[in-house]
Amino acid sequence: MLELTVEQISMGQTAADKPAALRLLAEYLVSDGLVAEGYLDGLQAREAQGSTFLGQGIAIPHGTPQTRDLVFTTGVRLLQFPDGVDWGDGHKVYLAIGIAARSDEHLRLLQLLTRALGETDLAEALRRASSAEALLKLLQGAPQELALDAQMIGLGVPAEDFEELVWRGARLLRRAECAGSGFAAVLQQAEALPLGDGLWWLHSEQTVRKPGLAFVTPEQPLRYLGQPLTGLFCLASLGAAHQALLERLCSLLIEGRGHELCRASSSHAVLEVLGGVQSSDWPSARITLANAHGLHARPAMALALLAKDYDGEIRLRVVDSGEAAVSVKSLSRLLSLGARRGQVLEFTVEPHIAAQALPALLAAVKAGLGEEVEVLAPVVEAVLETFAEPSPSAPPAGASIQGVAAAPGIASGPAHVQVVRVFDYPLRGSSPATERERLHTALGAVQADIQGLIQRSQAKAIREIFVTHQEMLADPALGDEVELRLRQGESAEAGWMAVIEAAARQQESLQDALLAERAADLRDVGRRVLASLCGVKDEPEPEQPYVLVMEEVGPSDVARLNPARVAGILTARGGATAHSAIVARALGIPAVVGAGEAVVLIAPGTPLLLDGQRGRVIVAPPADELARALAERAQRDARLQAANARRLEPAITEDGHAVEVFANIGESAGIDKVVELGAEGVGLLRTELIFMAHPQLPDEATQEAEYRRVLDGLGGRPLVVRTLDVGGDKPLPYWPIAEEENPFLGVRGIRLTLQRPQVMESQLRALLRAADARPLRIMFPMVGQVEEWRQARAMVERLREDIPVADLQIGIMVEVPSAALLAPVLAREVDFFSVGTNDLTQYTLAIDRGHPSLSAQADGLHPAVLQLIDITVRAAHAHGKWVGICGELAADPQAVPVLLGLEVDELSVAARSIAEVKAQVRAVNMQQARKLAREALLLGSAADVRALVENR
Ligand code: PEP
Ligand code: MG
Repeated sequence: MLELTVEQISMGQTAADKPAALRLLAEYLVSDGLVAEGYLDGLQAREAQGSTFLGQGIAIPHGTPQTRDLVFTTGVRLLQFPDGVDWGDGHKVYLAIGIAARSDEHLRLLQLLTRALGETDLAEALRRASSAEALLKLLQGAPQELALDAQMIGLGVPAEDFEELVWRGARLLRRAECAGSGFAAVLQQAEALPLGDGLWWLHSEQTVRKPGLAFVTPEQPLRYLGQPLTGLFCLASLGAAHQALLERLCSLLIEGRGHELCRASSSHAVLEVLGGVQSSDWPSARITLANAHGLHARPAMALALLAKDYDGEIRLRVVDSGEAAVSVKSLSRLLSLGARRGQVLEFTVEPHIAAQALPALLAAVKAGLGEEVEVLAPVVEAVLETFAEPSPSAPPAGASIQGVAAAPGIASGPAHVQVVRVFDYPLRGSSPATERERLHTALGAVQADIQGLIQRSQAKAIREIFVTHQEMLADPALGDEVELRLRQGESAEAGWMAVIEAAARQQESLQDALLAERAADLRDVGRRVLASLCGVKDEPEPEQPYVLVMEEVGPSDVARLNPARVAGILTARGGATAHSAIVARALGIPAVVGAGEAVVLIAPGTPLLLDGQRGRVIVAPPADELARALAERAQRDARLQAANARRLEPAITEDGHAVEVFANIGESAGIDKVVELGAEGVGLLRTELIFMAHPQLPDEATQEAEYRRVLDGLGGRPLVVRTLDVGGDKPLPYWPIAEEENPFLGVRGIRLTLQRPQVMESQLRALLRAADARPLRIMFPMVGQVEEWRQARAMVERLREDIPVADLQIGIMVEVPSAALLAPVLAREVDFFSVGTNDLTQYTLAIDRGHPSLSAQADGLHPAVLQLIDITVRAAHAHGKWVGICGELAADPQAVPVLLGLEVDELSVAARSIAEVKAQVRAVNMQQARKLAREALLLGSAADVRALVENR
């Protein structure tokens, strides 16, 4: 990509005239190896077609399409001419930027460069610049435009105090990529300025990427430092970009109109008060740019010249770019759009010139703005077209398809194939009022539909997804954006989907797995509204239990289906950690995901046999295979029933060896149910889930109450608590940390809490206080170094002096291979180990545990992982310490005998698996299990281990 650097700049050049300057430039480009001899002809030919003068003493000579073949490498050369060179038409050039570009890469450079052209006296400064560094600074340091649009306004946001409101404002700035992830923390440190009328102002330059202003108002009036707080401006400050806005705001406050901002009911109203946008009532029109090399200097010049014929404002933006509209009369601003072929341009013009200007502008763009253009092929908006080439064919009868095991169980039934429908709708609406009404009705219908789903949903996880969907639909920022589009004449369908798609893309760009998942929810709920607008009803469900086949199952697709009728789920895409897989598990529906695009081609009604444990599907299974699988299912059901009847009894192997079966939990609510399901204790309390359930860092008293509730519910059974395990891939919204290239290998778990010891100290104090005389076990996540453990232990020991606890053990999670390998050292010091096989497997096999296609291979039964468990258990037992397993592997039926054979002392699993795991323990013979484990350690793959267990 093109960037400007000092090495490209040659200062103090002289040239008698333009041809001499071009010759000099060509020499530099040739000697730098960017172009071949002869490129000078291209530079001259281009100037003959039209001047490359850009404005502000800058020219950008470049070759013609015919001389592109002479370019070896895309690059630039900058020559400063302090005496100036006459560039024709009365223009003087002090800086010539020679461009060698084979494609339209140089548009990016123009975009960078033309930000500088907003400076009023740049030409003079370029002439006087005394060093390449100074010149570069002039080109790069010029003010950028302040980002301020509807996306930056949050009205009536839920916030309980000033800090939370700041966080909301900072989040808007972060979403708009104005500032980095730590901006909320930075703003919290800044001094807030009261502006009067309940308005406050906060700003900072730290971590700012581009200038932007966010405005947020709280749902309920708040107070801060004894004064009302009804609106907060958060400025990501860079240069003087905000100056004009600040001046407008000051005059507004002096006129006593501050309250208009706090009372505004739409972001558009706020923008109008602040003067941040042109009137949305101006007529507009869109057209797709077809010029091969985008809106580069020559076509942009033609457009700017045409605009100047009209006595009124004409603005242009690139639809879906997220950038504000610019004046078409300014060549530099036009170039700063960086518009490329295929992008949709939107002109907005003052009403009194609209009738003449709009058709003329559209016609000029259509005709190529002085260039020959090849007409673009129409874009077909079909989701199905994203399927990979060559197109797959339907799997034949008897085919066995391997996918990712997402939810256990065996299902059979006819295929009920649901593919994403392509909706056909007009882009323009009849009138804003009609479209507004249609959208309103559709939103109401979908809201009511979701409300029904919430009421019918048994599982909390599912209800929460739908509550999120409702919030998404009610998001005022979305509503404001759509309203703007409706006023510009778009249909409800087009306006709605454009806004949903832009918001989803923005979520995806956040590089945060959790937030990116929300993009799927947004599209899911967006499509439901679209379907309602288009009057499309859902396909009727077949009468008998069926296997639902889809490309990708949206959370609401799964949850709206009746689990009594949906026997199984099969998807073309997605991984085991996809939202839909989690929902399927919560509902207990067997599921296989990521099985490949061919599955949606299966003819509706084709009998399918799905094994959610093995991740396998058989198309039109032979009768004997079906019978075998159904017999297996019947056995499994009977087994589960029997296991359930004995869930409260201890788990003792057939030869009398007792193994504790504990529960993994993430909240204090429901602890009674966990005990009722047979838990002999809690083996892993994921405290970060408790932290995540609070809008801000829970204070010590709040935490103590949570931990106390769990201990009370356990009635004397042990509680193993993991200290806060956040950071990297699991961020806490109110505890921003720097974005990391490789979050799984970054600042997470104990690494983070040791960096912020006050948070860990307060958590430890809350735990110790809640313990009384009950058995409390505290463990630290992600320990990889002995020193980390020692620091954490020292902290507990110190706090313990003030808060004595009768029955306390402290240990570590073994989830980093180095901790397992150091177990012989650590075992002397810890009270226990708990092996987190989810992370231990990902770090041992170097497979991201959430990877959509590789995660199926991240199998904890891999002999390498088993070796690490073996080292850990041997070391622990040598020192009389115990070892638990708290990763997903502990509940894997094939893993249980192997883990017991490795002599682990405790298995901690999801509460609904306890009865089954206890039953599996009861079926184990320890002598045989030990032999099985030794054999498994000598194998070469997880598949070999599984085969060994199957065939034992
Ligand atoms: C693990 O890594 O196995 C574990 C139990 O911790 P988490 O899944 O919460 O990372
Ligand atoms: Mg872990």
